[in-house]
Amino acid sequence: MAPTTTTKTGQPFDRSQLDQLLRRRMFFTQSFEIYGGVAGLFDYGPPLCALQANFIDFWRKFFVIEEGMLEVEPTILTPHEVLKTSGHVDKFADWCCKDPKTGEIFRADHLVEEVLEARLKGDLEARGQAINANTGAEEDAKKKKKIKAQATAVKLDDATREEYESILAKIDNYDGQGLGELMTKHNIKNPATGGDLLLPVAFNLMFETSIGPSAQLKGYLRPETAQGQFLNFAKLLDFNNQQMPFASASIGKSFRNEISPRAGLLRVREFLMAEIEHFVDPEGGKKHPRFAEVADVELELLDRDVQLSGKTTTTRMKIGDAVAQGIVDNETLGYFLARIQAFLKFIGVDQTKVRFRQHMANEMAHYAADCWDAELLTSYGWIECVGCADRSAYDLDVHSKATKTPLLVRETRKEPLKVEEWVAEIEKKKFGPKFKKDGKTVEAAVEALSQELREKLSIDLKEKGKIEIPVEGVGNGTVELPKELITIEKRTRVENTREYTPNVIEPSFGIGRILYALIEHNFWTREGDEARGVISFPPIVAPTKVLLVPLSNHADFEPLIQRLAAKLRRLGISNRLDNSGASIGKRYSRNDELGTALGITVDFQSVKDNTFTLRDRDTTKQVRASEDEVIAAIQRLCDGSETWADVAKRLPAFEGQEVD
Ligand code: AMP
Repeated sequence: MAPTTTTKTGQPFDRSQLDQLLRRRMFFTQSFEIYGGVAGLFDYGPPLCALQANFIDFWRKFFVIEEGMLEVEPTILTPHEVLKTSGHVDKFADWCCKDPKTGEIFRADHLVEEVLEARLKGDLEARGQAINANTGAEEDAKKKKKIKAQATAVKLDDATREEYESILAKIDNYDGQGLGELMTKHNIKNPATGGDLLLPVAFNLMFETSIGPSAQLKGYLRPETAQGQFLNFAKLLDFNNQQMPFASASIGKSFRNEISPRAGLLRVREFLMAEIEHFVDPEGGKKHPRFAEVADVELELLDRDVQLSGKTTTTRMKIGDAVAQGIVDNETLGYFLARIQAFLKFIGVDQTKVRFRQHMANEMAHYAADCWDAELLTSYGWIECVGCADRSAYDLDVHSKATKTPLLVRETRKEPLKVEEWVAEIEKKKFGPKFKKDGKTVEAAVEALSQELREKLSIDLKEKGKIEIPVEGVGNGTVELPKELITIEKRTRVENTREYTPNVIEPSFGIGRILYALIEHNFWTREGDEARGVISFPPIVAPTKVLLVPLSNHADFEPLIQRLAAKLRRLGISNRLDNSGASIGKRYSRNDELGTALGITVDFQSVKDNTFTLRDRDTTKQVRASEDEVIAAIQRLCDGSETWADVAKRLPAFEGQEVD
C-alpha cells in the first residue's frame, strides 16, 4: 500500500502540492504537451536539468574519479544480433494482460498489486480505521476512481488479509503463469469495467528500429548501457595495461517500452542511466581491495528469504557481517552497496528512507546470479532506484561464443601450474586412409573423450591392444581403434599463464528516479507559509547555488551585483539575479521553492563597506561579512567542506529581519 510519508519536519507529505510546484516552476513538463502528450515521456526544464547536471558531475567524482573507472560512451542504436545474443530479444519482457472487449492492456503484476492493495485499504476503511494516505495528484485521482470497482469498503477475513499481504511481499517473484493463477483465484478483472481479462502474455520492452536505408539491419534502442561496455572489454583491458580488477562506466539514455508508464518521472520510456561494470576475477571469492574501508557501514537489508516468507521486515547490519554470513554474496557486491548508500547520503537522500532489497529467484534478470536493489521510500511506495547485480560471466561468455572473439583475461601465473592429464594422440597418417570421409568425425570424438574415460581406455588399450569409442553417425555408433592408430598416456603439462572470463558486478543508477526521490525527501513547507514549498537540496546538487538580491533597483547596487556574479561564475558556482520589485522575503521564498541554497543581499551598507549578508535557505539565518569572506564561505558550502552551522559559528550573525 502506498505509505503515508512525512517530510523532514514531520508534516504529512502532500504529493499534489509538490506536483503542482514541479510543473509550475518547470522542473519538468509532459513531452509534446500541445499535441496531447505521450505517456511516459517528459521534458526536463531548467531546474531539473541543472539538478541532473550536478548529479552527474558529483557521480563522476564519486565513482569514476575516486575509483579510477574507465568511462566509455557506446552507441544507443544496437544491432539485433547483439541483443539476441545477450538474451534481451527473448527475455527482456514484462507480463501484460488484455481486456478483449475494450482493448485495454494492463501490466499484470501492477494490476494484481493495485487491486489487492485497494482491497486491503477497503478493509481498513470498513474497520473504521483512518487512512491518512498521501493526497494524490490528478493521476492518482484517476487511478483511485478506476480501482474503486474493486476497492469498496469491504471487510476481509484474517486469512484473506494475510494471504494478500504475503502475495504483495513477493509480488516480484511471480512469472506469467503465477500471475494468471492469482488473477483467477482472486477474481481480478478490468478495474474500470469489471470485464474479464485474458491470461498474461510476455511483452518485450525494447523499441525496435532498422539501421540504414535498406531496412535490412534490424536494431533496437538499447534498454541498458551495459552491452556496449561488455563488447569493448578486450580493448578496455588493454587500455588498463591488462590489470584486473577494473571497472568501466557509462552515462547515457536507455529506452524501455513500458506497458503502463505511471507515477510521473518514476516509470518512463526514455531515461538516463549511469552504469558501472566492475570486472573481477571469479576465483577467490570476488574480493575487493577496498572492502575494509566500508566493512563497518550499516545497511538496512531485506533478503529474499524474508520476502518469500511473506514479510518485508528489514535487518540493519554491517556490510562486513552480511558478506561474512553469506547474506550478500561477495565483497565486491557488498563494497558497491555501501558506496551506493554513501553516494545517496551525500546528495541528500533521506537515510531513513533507504533499504536494500534482494531479488528473489524468479525476479532476477536472465543474466543475474545475485541482485540487490537500493530502494527509496516515496509516496508511491518503495521504488527501485539503483540495481546492483552480479552478472557473473554471462555476458562476456555469450558474446565471446557468438563472435568467436576471446573476451577473457590472460595472466602470468606467479607459480607455474602442473596439470596431470590423460592425453590421447592419434596416428594422423594412418587415420585418414582408414576412416576416409569419417576421419574428422572420429578425430573429434577422440578429442571429446573425458579424462575418466581416457584413463579407463588406456587400460583397455594396454590389455587388449584396441579400444572402442562412441562416435555418433559413424558405423553402428562405435568405432574400433587399434593401438597402431592411437596412444593414451598420462602426461604432466606446465601452465605458465592462466585464462579466465571475469565476472561482472554492475551498479546501475536510474537517474530520473533518484532525482524524483531526492526532491520528495527534501520538500517541506514552513510554518506560517504552508502555501509555498521549500526544497532543501544540499548545496552540492542544488540547481542554483546562490541568489543575488539587491535591496532595490538603485543604480549603486549594479556594479556590486556584476562583480559578485562574475566572481561566482569564475568559481563555477551557478547564480541568478532576482531584481524584481517583489519584497526581499518574497524573492527568497520564490527561490526556496527551486531549492536555491544560499542568498546574498546587496544593500546600502554593501555600497559603503563592501560587506554583504549571506542567507541560508533552510534556517533563513543570515551572517554578514566582507565580499571575500562571503565568497569563500559559499565555495566551502558548495564543495561540501563546510556546513551552514560551521559558517554561522565563524561569521557574525546578521540580525536584520527578512522583509516580507
Ligand atoms: P534494471 O536494469 O531494470 O535493474 O534498471 C536499472 C535502473 O534503471 C533501475 O534501478 C531504475 O532506477 C532505472 N529504471 C528502470 N526502468 C525505468 C523506467 N521505466 N523509468 C525510469 N527509470 C527506470
